[in-house]
Amino acid sequence: MKPTSRCLQLLDRFMLRPKSVSFIGLGRMGSEMAFNLFSKKFTEASDSHFVVCDAIPDSARSFCENFLAQFPGAKMGIAVTPEEAVLASQTVITMLPSSPQVQTVYSQPGGIVQTLRMLPEAAARQTLCIDSTTLDIKVAQEVASQVVQTGAQIVDAPVSGGVTGAKAGTLSFLVGGTTETFQLSETILAYMGKRIIHCGPSGAGLGAKICNNLILGVQQIVVAEGMLLGQKLGLDPAVLAGVINSSTGSCWSSSVNNPVPSALPDKSPPCERDYEGGFATALMLKDMGLATDIANVSGSPLPLGEAAQSIYDDVLKRQPELGRKDFSSVYRYLHQAAQEGKKLHLGELVST
Ligand code: NAD
Repeated sequence: MKPTSRCLQLLDRFMLRPKSVSFIGLGRMGSEMAFNLFSKKFTEASDSHFVVCDAIPDSARSFCENFLAQFPGAKMGIAVTPEEAVLASQTVITMLPSSPQVQTVYSQPGGIVQTLRMLPEAAARQTLCIDSTTLDIKVAQEVASQVVQTGAQIVDAPVSGGVTGAKAGTLSFLVGGTTETFQLSETILAYMGKRIIHCGPSGAGLGAKICNNLILGVQQIVVAEGMLLGQKLGLDPAVLAGVINSSTGSCWSSSVNNPVPSALPDKSPPCERDYEGGFATALMLKDMGLATDIANVSGSPLPLGEAAQSIYDDVLKRQPELGRKDFSSVYRYLHQAAQEGKKLHLGELVST
């Protein structure tokens, strides 16, 4: 049987594996991270190869067009499947919504693990997978163990810093894996972030990320409550934000992601763009669920975390359009409840 041109193309790419990096998942975070990584790597070594892959073909296409318009000589291709992405590159980065997508991309037929099993042993051993998705720790550890059984290496490397940090290349990476794999991944992660922290073995990066987002999710709600109450008391949002941000109530949710338009005149949080472009409320609800699930398993009480989870759940049920908007839009949910005269006691939320 004659090899197809697609097959020859893939074989050609296979020869370039060591110089190539594949990025799977070009959403709000992944597109910015991939852009930073590829542009810096290309500036350093113009013979580098880049491959992008997304479930939405238009996302991969428009990423390529945009990148090549700014870096005309760059060698860049589109992988239609995770299999193609692994065949093309020794380094594979994934930035997906959550556990189901990571299971699909890694563990299902045609996924990363099955492809690694088909590779020559040496090629599998040289492969490094970096998963930056925020997902369930158990699922991540299972996937990591499947990858390691093929001889390849993997770290969980979820991020903190949001879309702004991804764009600026200043993310914090919270890494879980062996010391050797951490050191390998550090070189790549440094193109996309400023702080790269080895948190411990496989799953430890996710543990740290889930704890951080538990705190963030609670803080964003209480900042929205405080900012709304302040306005009811006749305070100007910018004056109130100025007071909080130079006082003990200050936190990222008040000083960077303040949910009230005009509260941060020198900054441009998502509320200034109708809550577009930040961290989706649906993803925050997912993270609160990850925290409450792991807390149940480990016997750690989470009264505020559970309350925050019910509130984000209620936001999505009452105002589904806020699901894809930044989670600071919880302010809009509170504002609407105030206009309708609803009290929103925890025991009365539709989700509870
Ligand atoms: P997103 O939904 O914008 O992007 C996810 C991308 O993955 C999309 O482009 C989607 O098409 C793609 N995808 C889904 N399934 C796929 C598959 N099977 N194969 C290939 N591509 C697939 O999400 P995001 O905001 O970029 O977040 C990604 C991850 O980063 C999430 O786990 C999130 O919790 C975490 N995170 C997000 C932020 C933020 O501010 N947005 C901050 C920190 C961490």
